[in-house]
Amino acid sequence: MSFDLPIAPPARVTGWAGDRATSGGGLELPVFYPATGAQVSTLIEDDAQAVDGAVSAARRAFDRGPWPGLTLPQRQEALERCRQTILDHVDELARLECAATGLVLRELRERHMLRAAYNFRFFAEYISQTSGQRYDQTPGYMTTVSRVPVGVAALIAPWNAPVALATMKIAAALAFGNTVVLKPSEQTPLALARLVELLQEVLPEGVLNLVNGRGPVTGAALVDHPGIDLVSFTGGTETGRAIMSAAGRNLVPCTLELGGKSANIIFASADMERALDGALMGIFSNNGQQCLAGSRILVERSIFDDFVGRFVERAGRVRVGDPLSQDTDIGPLASAAHRDRVLSFVDIAKGDGGTVLTGGTRREDLGAGYFVNPTAVTVPSNAARVAQDEIFGPFATFLPFDGEDEAAAIANDTRFGLVSYIWSDHLPTVMRMSEQMRSGVVWVNTPMMRELRAPFGGFKTSGVGREGGASCEAFYTEERTVTIPINPQPLRKLGAQT
Ligand code: NAD
Repeated sequence: MSFDLPIAPPARVTGWAGDRATSGGGLELPVFYPATGAQVSTLIEDDAQAVDGAVSAARRAFDRGPWPGLTLPQRQEALERCRQTILDHVDELARLECAATGLVLRELRERHMLRAAYNFRFFAEYISQTSGQRYDQTPGYMTTVSRVPVGVAALIAPWNAPVALATMKIAAALAFGNTVVLKPSEQTPLALARLVELLQEVLPEGVLNLVNGRGPVTGAALVDHPGIDLVSFTGGTETGRAIMSAAGRNLVPCTLELGGKSANIIFASADMERALDGALMGIFSNNGQQCLAGSRILVERSIFDDFVGRFVERAGRVRVGDPLSQDTDIGPLASAAHRDRVLSFVDIAKGDGGTVLTGGTRREDLGAGYFVNPTAVTVPSNAARVAQDEIFGPFATFLPFDGEDEAAAIANDTRFGLVSYIWSDHLPTVMRMSEQMRSGVVWVNTPMMRELRAPFGGFKTSGVGREGGASCEAFYTEERTVTIPINPQPLRKLGAQT
């Protein structure tokens, strides 16, 4: 079986430095369509010199302006034009995104691209609500504190939701007056390359630049570059350590949005049907490739067998297939290597005494694409690797618990701390459990409901810093204190005596 391509992507993909393509200089990297395994484009990797060109363009656009000095309405207007550009190209961008990620086209059109457009509107509106401070405690002096742009922002994005995640960073960085060098994942450069090209029409030269290539080559050259003033990274925890070390060497601030192994805790007091819907969405949407996936499903022992039985029955009916079909729930995984890694956890689970409840296999009948069946396992304890490691695929791990204390202990027994999900209609249970969760976000009786004004990010190795309204304002601006004498006291006249 073979599937149609969502779109014919450009044969070669390059970055942007100011008003021209980056100089490349590195390897030619293949881009594959995950539904067929066919190469659909070639990425030209940017070496350190090409990265220097992009950073220099962003530096000039920041240091000489006009971007950081635009009035609020001017910047809001530019952000609004970015939003409209995305809305005018939703179908093309969604198809390009599909061609590199294999994500379901319907979801890309209806969720990812609309979120991307909204990210620009959100920050355009947000900046009109920001305010400075004024202090006058010292008699005769007035002190004001204002927030000013930081400078050149290095933004590094992963492959699991490239446009939706990168536009959160781009919109925030631009809204607060910074200029940008973006580095997408080398696996999924297509839609972001087109977006950056389109936005050149509505942004001043050098404000938004793009470099492409592998992390240790292009990404490392970017975060090591002395012309960078901040780094915002979303990706894996190990990469996060390398990025933070580089940012430390350069003494620039960084935020890290990293991995997760989030507990999805289902009490007997929950609305069972809703919890079941939520548990399936929590682990299988976005092809299971989500940092915030509810991948450890903890179920109160009295309902464990019933709940797991119903989950497995529904998982068996989740439709895996062509990303272009309206009927598809799950497309292929993002790469052959990732598919193999996800499936390797089946034997790891068995080795730890686990039982495969459903899935755990490739979908050979769907051809050469990277398809796997939705998978669920149960393991004897939370120490099992499938309960501790981020698998980042459609792979649910089930564990039973007795009572709130045990649920909280298991939920927190992880090196991650991104999200916790609690399902119960008993308010005191919900309140007590929410307070015990060692995670940056707690979602109650709902899967994934992101409020952009609220901070999003992780405890422990799930991250450093937060994204969201006020968190982005704090990160993408520097505070500047100005003190002015309005009724000056006489100064000491050092050296005035004769
Ligand atoms: P990754 O860490 O392999 O790569 C992410 C990005 O970093 C890519 O652009 C990559 O090229 C770049 N990179 C890699 N090494 C680098 C280096 N040394 N210097 C600079 N850049 C480097 O992650 P991935 O596999 O693309 O994405 C999956 C991971 O992202 C998962 O762990 C997932 O949980 C995480 N993620 C987190 C969030 C969140 O908001 N917390 C959201 C989405 C994904």
